[in-house]
Amino acid sequence: MHSKSFSSVRTVKSGNSFSKNRGKSASQNSNRHKSSISKSKGSHVPFGSAPRKSASFGGARSNFGRGPKRFRGVKKATMDPNKFIKKAVPVAEVEEYVAKHKFSDFRLCQELKNNILAKGYETPTPIQDQAIPHALDGRDIIGIAATGTGKTAAFIIPLINKVFVGQNQKVLIITPTRELASQIDKELREFSREMRIRSVQCIGGARIGKQISDICQNPQFVIGTPGRLNDLIKRGKFRTGDIQSIVLDEVDRMLDMGFIDDIRTILSNLSQNRQSLFFSATISPRISLLIQSFMNSPVTVSVKTAVTSDNVEQDIVKVGFDKRKIDVLHEILIKPECEKVLIFGRTKRGVELLSKELNIRGFKTSSIHGDKPQNKRERALRQFKQNDLNVLCATDVAARGLDIDDVTHVINYDLPENYEDYVHRIGRTGRANKRGTALTFVS
Ligand code: AMP
Repeated sequence: MHSKSFSSVRTVKSGNSFSKNRGKSASQNSNRHKSSISKSKGSHVPFGSAPRKSASFGGARSNFGRGPKRFRGVKKATMDPNKFIKKAVPVAEVEEYVAKHKFSDFRLCQELKNNILAKGYETPTPIQDQAIPHALDGRDIIGIAATGTGKTAAFIIPLINKVFVGQNQKVLIITPTRELASQIDKELREFSREMRIRSVQCIGGARIGKQISDICQNPQFVIGTPGRLNDLIKRGKFRTGDIQSIVLDEVDRMLDMGFIDDIRTILSNLSQNRQSLFFSATISPRISLLIQSFMNSPVTVSVKTAVTSDNVEQDIVKVGFDKRKIDVLHEILIKPECEKVLIFGRTKRGVELLSKELNIRGFKTSSIHGDKPQNKRERALRQFKQNDLNVLCATDVAARGLDIDDVTHVINYDLPENYEDYVHRIGRTGRANKRGTALTFVS
C-alpha cells in the first residue's frame, strides 16, 4: 500500500491563495564547504562481493576517470560549484497540502474507485485534487507539475473513466522517454484492472511489428514516444483521426529533446474535437506557442512541490590531483549509507565504461543509456527498482520522470549540461518527502 505524503506550494492561475514553503531561507543558507570524503579503507562493503581494484584502470595510461581527458571531443559543462551545495530542509518544515477532495468525491465509476482504493490511494495529491475535476468536465488542461507530484494519476484516472463510460473513446499519451511510457502503461493497467481496457506501448527500440499488430487490435490507450508514433502514422498503421483525448507528458523535456516537429505533425493529424491535457515542469515561450495553436481555452493548474531539492542534502566532491575520480567514487559507494545510488554521466560510452568498471570492482551495477537495447534498459531499471542492483549508471535519459523508490544518493559523476538538468537529476532522490543526498564531482 502506498502511503506517500505529498506537500506542496500550490498556485492555481485562477488566483487561489496558496501556502508557502517556509524552508527556503534555511536551505539557502548553504554550507559552502568542500566535501570530505572519508578514507574508508576496511569499512563495511554494503553490496556485492568485496570490491577489488581493476587492473585495467590502475595503469598510468588509462584515462578513465581522469576528469579532463574524458571529455575529449565533448564540450565540458562549466557551472558554479556553489550551486551544488545546499543543506536539506528538515521535512517537518514543509507544510502539508490540504486536499479539497477525496477520491470518493470525484464523479468516477465504482470499478475505478475500487482500483484506486486497491492501489492504496486515499487522498489526491495537489495536482490530482485540482486537475481531476476539470478533466472530468472535459476541459483542456495545462498542468504545470514535475514528476513525483502524482501527475500520472491526475490524467490517467479521468481518462480511464472517460473511456469506460463513453463509447469508442481513444486516448493517445506521448512521453519523452521509453521508460516513462512504460511507467505510465503500468500505472494505467493497475488503475483499469478488470475494466476491459487495453493499451499498447509504441516506443522506439522495441519491435515495430509487434506494435503494429497490437495497434490493429484497437486498444483504447496508445502510449508512445514521438518518433515511433510518427513512424507508425507515416506507415499508415496508426490512424489518429479517432483519438478524442491526448496527453503530452513532460512537454518541456520533449521540446528539449528536439521532438517539436514530430509532435506538431502528430497533433495536426488529430481531430479538432478533442480534449488535450499537457503537462510540463515549466512553460517556456516555445511551449506557449504549442499550447496556443493546439489547445481549446485550457485551464491552467500549477502545482509546485516543495522544490524537490529541499529534501536533498547537496554537496560537491573535489578530486585532488593525487587521486583518480573512479577511486574517489569507489570510496563513496562503499559507505554503508549509500544503499541505492543513481550515478549520472554525460556520454553513453562513459556511462557504459563506468558501469563495467564498478562491476569489476564488485558493485552490483548496471546502466541505462541510449545505445543500450530497450529490453536491457528495462531490465536494468527493473532490477534497480527491485533492489537487485544497488548502483545504476545513467545518462540524462534517466533524469526525468522516473519514479524509483528509496534512492539514497544521486551522484553527478559528470556535470550536467545546465542547472535545470541538475535539478531533475537530483530529483530522483529525496522523493515523497524522504531525505536524499546529491553529490556532484567537480574538478
Ligand atoms: P508520479 O508523479 O505520477 O510519477 O507519481 C509519483 C509517485 O506518487 C508514484 O509512486 C505514485 O504511485 C505515487 N502517488 C501518486 N498519487 C498518489 C496518491 N494520491 N496517494 C499516494 N501515492 C500517490
